[in-house]
Amino acid sequence: MISKLEKLFRISKETVGLRSEFLKKFFVKYPSQYVKELIYTSGEEKLDIPDDAPFREEDFEDDELPKTLAFCDWDLTKMGKGVKSSIIIYPESFLLSYLSFWNAIVNHEYFHAKDAFSGIYLFDGGRIDCSNIEEMPTLLDDRIRFHDRGLNPLGDFLQARAYNNEIKNTEGGTLRELKREMKNVTEFVKDYLEEFKILYKEESEISGGKNLSLLGRASYTLINDIKSTLKI
Ligand SMILES: [Zn+2]
Repeated sequence: MISKLEKLFRISKETVGLRSEFLKKFFVKYPSQYVKELIYTSGEEKLDIPDDAPFREEDFEDDELPKTLAFCDWDLTKMGKGVKSSIIIYPESFLLSYLSFWNAIVNHEYFHAKDAFSGIYLFDGGRIDCSNIEEMPTLLDDRIRFHDRGLNPLGDFLQARAYNNEIKNTEGGTLRELKREMKNVTEFVKDYLEEFKILYKEESEISGGKNLSLLGRASYTLINDIKSTLKI
């Protein structure tokens, strides 16, 4: 037996005109206090997307390029001030299974919205919010490369947190249908863990153990979060 909502999702895969209605009903069933609304876009409309909006990009098929599924349309200049974000949903989201869609929205995009709404609490009681977010670097490619790619510590930090939350909330894929997906997500998260270990080491060396930078404190917080989720 599938739910009425899942049925509507399946019909919406074929019938584009029903997608907005589906999203409205989905949001009623799975509301979030951090989210204003779910908005469908064909990807052709001109949206006013901030440069720092985090996209969820998936690369589960080896021979396909990553596709944008959805993103959280946040305003980091108001991070931590209790402002709700909209979640923008692209047509590619309707290629997913219902459960994968649910996971991508509820466990991933809503989590970005929560970070934007509440700010991010650090291990030492500090917080990342609009007052200090600019201290988090968005480009480090000349200093440190990882797997031969330049780093965007802020973007990677936010993505790692959302992926980590997916694993936490699906218990690593104990739902059979999400098992394969969570295996991939776990690989991403392990990769982020290695990246942030390098960043943390670098930041610790620079600070000599005193006055760790915001990136150092964020890295340490993330490393501990991931280790606790993966139980390593
Ligand atoms: Zn994301």
